[in-house]
Amino acid sequence: MSKRKIVTEPNPILRKKSDILETVNDETRKLLDDMLETMYAAPGIGLAGVQIGILKQLIVIDISKEPEKKNPLYLINPQITFKSKKTSTYEEGCLSLPGHFAEVERPTECIVKFIDYYGKKKEIKADGILSTCIQHEIDHLNGVLFIDYLSKLKKNMIIKKLIKQKKLADKIIL
Ligand code: ZN
Repeated sequence: MSKRKIVTEPNPILRKKSDILETVNDETRKLLDDMLETMYAAPGIGLAGVQIGILKQLIVIDISKEPEKKNPLYLINPQITFKSKKTSTYEEGCLSLPGHFAEVERPTECIVKFIDYYGKKKEIKADGILSTCIQHEIDHLNGVLFIDYLSKLKKNMIIKKLIKQKKLADKIIL
């Protein structure tokens, strides 16, 4: 496993749609392992392929709080087949928008169909934080970020700050 660099906003790749994965093989699993390591190191609870620059429909999630109770979930080609009318609001963050958080309202429950780590078809019903996390990560596969749910004013403010953060980081590197 190796840690990858996380792509941060603004970066046009984050707005691109990810491709469906045709086959799940050792190369896929190596990629998922890298994604998981990158996510744990960040630390975060979810990461999509595009966030390490790979436009494939790959997601890793682990919402377990204690590091000794790791419970990774791997979603390949995920598809939401049901969203509840009932909604929940969570304060969301994103590894591609470091340091920024905002409340986002999403369906409380969802059912998602996907291919797992071993290439098997699976389906799970999720609610609470897992449901939010799955929806947030699937958004990434469609080029959508959580700031897209905010008012234009709020969104632009966050993007402006991120540009400043990036410039500052460049200066430090130089
Ligand atoms: Zn994110």
